[in-house]
Amino acid sequence: MTYPRQVEALVRHLSIAPFLDDLTRADPEAVDFQIWAVVVEQAARFAEGVIDPLDAVLDRPGATLSSGRVVTGPGHREAWARFAGDGWLTLALPEDAGGQGLPLLLTTACEELFNRASSAFTMLATPNRTAAAMLAKAADAATRDVWVPKLASGEWTATICISEPDAGSDVARIRTRAARGGDGLWRVTGEKCWISYGDHDLAARIGHCMLARTSDAPGVRGLSLLLVPDRRDDGSANGVAVRRIEEKLGLHGSPTCVIGFEQAGAILIGDEGRGLQTLFHMMLLMRLSCAPQGVGVAEAALATALGYAQERRQGGDPAAPPVQIVAHADVQRQLLRMAGRVEVARGIALASAAAMDLAERAPEADRAGWLALAQFLLPIAKDQSARLAFDVSSDALQVLGGAGYTREWPVERRLRDARVFAVFEGTSGIQAIDMLHRRLWRDGGEGMNRFLASARGDLGDDPDSATVAAMLDRVEGVAATLGGWRGTARDAEAGATAFLDLCGLVAGGWIALRLLRFAGDDPVALRLQAAARFHLAELTARVEAEAQLATLGAARLDGFGDYLA
Ligand SMILES: Cc1cc2nc3c(=O)[nH]c(=O)nc-3n(C[C@H](O)[C@H](O)[C@H](O)COP(=O)(O)OP(=O)(O)OC[C@H]3O[C@@H](n4cnc5c(N)ncnc54)[C@H](O)[C@@H]3O)c2cc1C
Repeated sequence: MTYPRQVEALVRHLSIAPFLDDLTRADPEAVDFQIWAVVVEQAARFAEGVIDPLDAVLDRPGATLSSGRVVTGPGHREAWARFAGDGWLTLALPEDAGGQGLPLLLTTACEELFNRASSAFTMLATPNRTAAAMLAKAADAATRDVWVPKLASGEWTATICISEPDAGSDVARIRTRAARGGDGLWRVTGEKCWISYGDHDLAARIGHCMLARTSDAPGVRGLSLLLVPDRRDDGSANGVAVRRIEEKLGLHGSPTCVIGFEQAGAILIGDEGRGLQTLFHMMLLMRLSCAPQGVGVAEAALATALGYAQERRQGGDPAAPPVQIVAHADVQRQLLRMAGRVEVARGIALASAAAMDLAERAPEADRAGWLALAQFLLPIAKDQSARLAFDVSSDALQVLGGAGYTREWPVERRLRDARVFAVFEGTSGIQAIDMLHRRLWRDGGEGMNRFLASARGDLGDDPDSATVAAMLDRVEGVAATLGGWRGTARDAEAGATAFLDLCGLVAGGWIALRLLRFAGDDPVALRLQAAARFHLAELTARVEAEAQLATLGAARLDGFGDYLA
């Protein structure tokens, strides 16, 4: 049983999390390590005891569509009721909205444990928590008073309902329309697709947090945020119907629905024409949740690979019994690479959460600066964790050899589940373009500069610090080059993904350095530091490769017109 190892790592990471001193100064009551350690342990117990055994059951046969309703797998309903009943949906919800008011830093640690147990199960919790937080801020009092407690208790659930067949990355092309009805409600007509938990049998009512077009103003200016319940207050149908659920590679326990809306009654949330702005808070929180999602899945795969490598015996002196495969240098390399990536991604996820906490809890005058930092870290955390989950699952499969490719071991399931993490909530490409256009060009690199200043503040006189200092200089230099390419956007966009990767590597170097300098010297620290040290040893070479790729320009894309046409 390896959850206790993950708990030890998480508690240590929490105790040295970046920006913790700032959070303690801003909101001393929010930081209580004794409580945090107990909450993390209880989350691990719930994840291991209740959710983990369910994951294989949810995978096959998965959710199905029967007589127009989604039917979830055996045990799903009971587990959801226990999850909600034990209060796991309300950790970070503000106290005045009926929540526990705990920081996102702690929630993020717990989410990693739940996702390690089952990302398909945890996919429902995320829109629920984040919709409750958004409605607590933005809904009118009557809507807030009805919906927030129901979502917080898990009796009702929520979706984020944006995508349409012709509006995926390009939200401005949303066609679903909403018009005022005569009864104070709005009427919504259109079709949404790929909606996670768009229908299910786990709760009595589902509220779709939907972007729909309420005027002919071009682009996103015509979009408003509406709350569209699947049934009316009296329980009757509200013109919302599941048209299909997707057959997909993984996440079979999380139904992905095409939903039709025919004059469905809806409540406007926030101001008309400011849908994206109103949804902003929920979207940021959902993006943050992608980070522990990826780390949790990667941790699961790593734990399986490590356990297997200690048991499986192959190779060595033919005259002697075979040795554990963990004794082979190439297997050690694979395991340490996975471990290093997991530890630094964990640290980046927690750093992002702390920055988000400070964007809400710091003195008013400092909040914009913390938000800028959070917005720089979030695409890094989101995308790096997404790819981490897939890569580490794939590496774990490699360590298991043929066994890893079979259903007898859970790594093929993790691999299938993880592939979509770099697609939903903004593809890798869109995160990279966003980093370039918004964070570097529009915001003038403010978030990045804050990151660089924080990281430089952690440097010491040791050789590891010198290594990380050189990486920080390198990313700053590449950013300056891309910053100067605003007039030739195609050159910069051709390097955007490499730049995002570069930022991720350098942020990882910063976390590895912090582990080496601040984690302590007991057995838990030594374990984390071994992973960090290995990670740093290969990092300079990887940083250099991405730095060069980021600044190659677009010329290398030219001349392929016939091929791509
Ligand atoms: C399992 C699953 C669950 C989902 N859950 C939800 C949900 O709950 N709610 C919801 O609203 N949506 C959900 N989605 C939809 C998801 O958010 C979209 O699939 C995603 O945003 C990408 O949109 P798309 O699939 O239309 O791809 P496209 O936008 O068609 O993109 C295809 C490719 O083109 C690239 N590309 C597109 N535009 C640009 C550009 N301007 N510059 C550079 N590259 C570009 C992309 O990076 C990508 O590689 C889910 C999807 C899946 C698969």
